[in-house]
Amino acid sequence: MAGGLFELRKDPITGWWVAVVVDREFERQRFQVAARPVSPPGAACQNCEQPSGDGVRVRVLKPQAFSVAGTEREARESGHDDRAPGLGLVGDCGSWQTIVAPVGHHGSLAEERPAIVVEMLARARDAVAAARDAGETDYLQVVQNWGAQAGARTDHLCLDFYDLPQIPHRIGEELGGAARYLIREGVCPYCRLVRDELADRVRVVWEDAASVCFAPYASRSPFELWVVPRHHDADFGRATDEQIASATETLQKVLAMLSVLDGPPYNLVCIRPRCAYASTRRITGTGRYIHACARSPAWSWVPGCP
Ligand SMILES: [Zn+2]
Ligand SMILES: [Zn+2]
Repeated sequence: MAGGLFELRKDPITGWWVAVVVDREFERQRFQVAARPVSPPGAACQNCEQPSGDGVRVRVLKPQAFSVAGTEREARESGHDDRAPGLGLVGDCGSWQTIVAPVGHHGSLAEERPAIVVEMLARARDAVAAARDAGETDYLQVVQNWGAQAGARTDHLCLDFYDLPQIPHRIGEELGGAARYLIREGVCPYCRLVRDELADRVRVVWEDAASVCFAPYASRSPFELWVVPRHHDADFGRATDEQIASATETLQKVLAMLSVLDGPPYNLVCIRPRCAYASTRRITGTGRYIHACARSPAWSWVPGCP
């Protein structure tokens, strides 16, 4: 092994590089941090109050949440600055909604009753399918932010979803990279990843009959994990009830493993084509430069510490 401080690792699909410190002993105290509640105990919770009723509900936080302004010049010429509905380049479109657990459910996803998580994931699947059928938007992101440090705005167990009119450029790059990989190698890159990770067994965290969870080689944040279904299908909107139940079990098991770090804050992201979440930042003191970003055109779940 060469003596460089940073090992530069390359993602074979996107070609993106990350710098990883590989010769440092793991120090738990560097990473252990408990998720911080958003509100004090007993505070009013909008997700308990809206919408009315009990059970799993879908709350529309903002219909037609996105106006495509374009460049400043395009925005000026389209009259977007007037802030009137329908005056963006393509009008106001998309939405920001959240799938909320029953009233009073302010615990973690890992500790929730499986039947509740199954219902929440099924709602997310149905939202993806509905957006596809409507054909009015290009991209739907499902995400759970847990803990104030991870950007959560509520302690109520929920899955936010954003129905967007555009494919973020990072996701576009991933899709292009996956397509080039397929042409170059003649195989789906995500199916190959699953196969290779299972053969090496160096980074496998969890597996069952339906899914495999591993820490990617070119991980862009500490404890970034991918949960990839063994079943080759790019559309979470087509997931069967059986696959939803399996995804629930896997997610709960994998997220429970993070409790080794005192129940840390995290971002959980469901990815499919036209569906993802991305954030970029650089963290010093962890030994890594980080580009924390969701990925994978095959539908999958990506939990990772923020
Ligand atoms: Zn609540
Ligand atoms: Zn595949």
